[in-house]
Amino acid sequence: MKIPAAFIKQMAGTPGWKEADFCTILESGEQVQSIRLNSRKMSDPDQLNFKERTAVPWASTGFYLPERPKYTLDPLLHAGAYYVQEASSMFLEQAINQLLPGKNGLRVLDLCAAPGGKSTHLRSLFPDDTVLVSNEVIKSRVTILEENLLKWGNSNQIITNNDPRDFSKADLLFDIIVVDAPCSGSGLFRRDPKAMEEWSEELVELCSQRQKRILTDIWPCLKENGWLIYSTCSYSMQEDESIVDWVLSGFEAGSAKLQLDPSWNIVETESPVKKGLGYRLYPDRLKGEGFFLAAFKKGGETEKKPSRKNRVKLEKATKQQVEDIREWVQPELAAFYMLNGMMVGMGEQVPELIGDLSPLYIRRAGVTLGKWAGKQLLPDHALALSMNLSAAISRIELQDTSALQYLRKEEIHIDSAKPGWNLVTYKGLGLGWMKVLPNRSNNYYPKEWRILMQSGR
Ligand code: SAM
Repeated sequence: MKIPAAFIKQMAGTPGWKEADFCTILESGEQVQSIRLNSRKMSDPDQLNFKERTAVPWASTGFYLPERPKYTLDPLLHAGAYYVQEASSMFLEQAINQLLPGKNGLRVLDLCAAPGGKSTHLRSLFPDDTVLVSNEVIKSRVTILEENLLKWGNSNQIITNNDPRDFSKADLLFDIIVVDAPCSGSGLFRRDPKAMEEWSEELVELCSQRQKRILTDIWPCLKENGWLIYSTCSYSMQEDESIVDWVLSGFEAGSAKLQLDPSWNIVETESPVKKGLGYRLYPDRLKGEGFFLAAFKKGGETEKKPSRKNRVKLEKATKQQVEDIREWVQPELAAFYMLNGMMVGMGEQVPELIGDLSPLYIRRAGVTLGKWAGKQLLPDHALALSMNLSAAISRIELQDTSALQYLRKEEIHIDSAKPGWNLVTYKGLGLGWMKVLPNRSNNYYPKEWRILMQSGR
């Protein structure tokens, strides 16, 4: 596949663009592999099954791998020990850490969240008392977002499925909004030749219009002095610096400067009119794909939204249910409710936020703990992956081959296991549930998540 001539023409004069170097690196076909560790689940990267790793310079838990492993056949991926993420997009960490050094108790919105790269990263960058709302407008893409966030294992998490404009109907204002905008995708040319095929000047224009629409819709939901972080994987100025100019012209906003280590080779750019700052990552200058990021601080006054009367009130779990659930969860899980017939555990801040988000479609909130059948809990898969699961729950530790059998939802024979519910673990991390009965054990791994790839492929 050839780099589109119209693209090369459009790039002339773009800050940091070096046509010959760019074309050489793209034509080399080199593929960069990188992952980001879930350090709250696995603090020591030496526990990973990837022995050869080098650090991604701008991300504390990012690692390059020398080649592409068969991720699907690594049980640690399914346990949420790491996320496979393109290295340049981990630059988000610099914006969060540099702009928000003290960051307790915040409300963060990841507006364009699927499949969950930025959301899982944000979850790791903020303490547990920060509530993250991860939204995805396209319904079919919410499933993968949900899967990745459940694996990440946090409780102060809400997943919504809404158009950006719906957020202005809710009461909630956010401290931080991340808009990782849908874009023309030229930043992915090297790894996805289809992106080259689909690229056109018309697509860039269409994306630029859509980006402006998304920003217009969500800007009123940002608190005064709050931060909006905007990013794309496009090289086109219409989607990057021109958007910076457009934000600075239309809203009361200031642009943010980030400190760069010169060895990173990230290019700081100025927007042509307002001289707002942006950051460009090019594959011929560093180990990663194309990425652009700019951050804006909101000035002026945000109109306080009048509190609506028709706020959703969650149904509280009964005293008995709360008492019975205690043996399953750690004490930090403070609030227990019933949502769609399932018991859900949350941090204290989440229920209030659900009221504030009322008109939105809330797909999940907190950790789904399970369903009660009388006094018996049928534990949900989310609980197996949750960092709030009690350490006292009985466990069955599996090795590589049997862990893969479990993840394929095959029957597994366990010689000595406690009857009843057991958490299946691999390297100490939860993979899912198994119910041990007198003559057999039942594998409760979700059918729709089971792995189909056979070993040795
Ligand atoms: N943040 C994600 C991550 O790091 O894994 C990637 C997000 S991707 C660049 C952009 C997302 O925006 C897609 O999931 C897409 O479905 C969504 N999207 C598409 N059109 C949109 C719109 N009009 N408003 C908001 N989001 C939109």
